[in-house]
Amino acid sequence: MRIIEPHIHMIARTTADYERMALMHTVACCEPAFWAGYDRTSAMAFHDYFTHITTFEPKRAAQYLIQHYAWICMNPKEADNLALSQEVIAFIPEFLRAPNVLGIGEIGLNKCTPNEITVFELQVDLAVKHNQLIWIHTPHLDDKLKGTKIMLDILKARRDIEPGRVCFDHTEEHTVGLIREAGFWAAMTIYPITKNSQARVVDTVERMGLERLLVDASGDWGPSDPGTLHNAVFEMRRRGHADDVVEELFYDNPCRFLGQCPKFRPQPRRP
Ligand SMILES: [Zn+2]
Repeated sequence: MRIIEPHIHMIARTTADYERMALMHTVACCEPAFWAGYDRTSAMAFHDYFTHITTFEPKRAAQYLIQHYAWICMNPKEADNLALSQEVIAFIPEFLRAPNVLGIGEIGLNKCTPNEITVFELQVDLAVKHNQLIWIHTPHLDDKLKGTKIMLDILKARRDIEPGRVCFDHTEEHTVGLIREAGFWAAMTIYPITKNSQARVVDTVERMGLERLLVDASGDWGPSDPGTLHNAVFEMRRRGHADDVVEELFYDNPCRFLGQCPKFRPQPRRP
């Protein structure tokens, strides 16, 4: 069985995590651009970060036979600084040409401020202009439903957005439905302590089905563990789901969404 990790911040992880993922049959991982654990002090700090995730991480992953892909953007946690965001957005197009970049992401909202919404819309424009896939971060906890609805309304009001080319991440039971009903993809992130657990994710799969659904781990700088993705694989198998169905969710589905970018090499077992 092959596994794809659609959302992980490998810049915050050690090579031991690449090794563990490889031993658990992860063949590809995707790193959306995000906050660094601190607010950057200049646009060039983002330039350095984008360079890191488009050059160094793919090489580090390749040592473990894992394909590393990236998404580039101004992240929602720093997007409240409009001037800085505009400076960063100006040089994003050069990174979209990198061989491992799949699109614009993870854009979205954090506190749902007017500046964050402006920066979100600027980057949706950028994705449309450059024909890019979009990966969206939905806010955590109390702001999740509100932020998800704001972004859904913005995207649904546009005629130039194809919902099947957009994925909303960090979804939960109360947001998966409205996202998929509108034709978008939803991803659920598993955390070892806070937020979604593997049991909640598998419950959702059982209740709502696995069409246009992705599952990812929360490998970052906080309490998180790339192995939670594999815990979810085990949880599904333990509940009696056939390996064919499990691989459909953890391998074929990511291939279908991410494979809309021709740079993504893994192919689904079935179209
Ligand atoms: Zn993230």
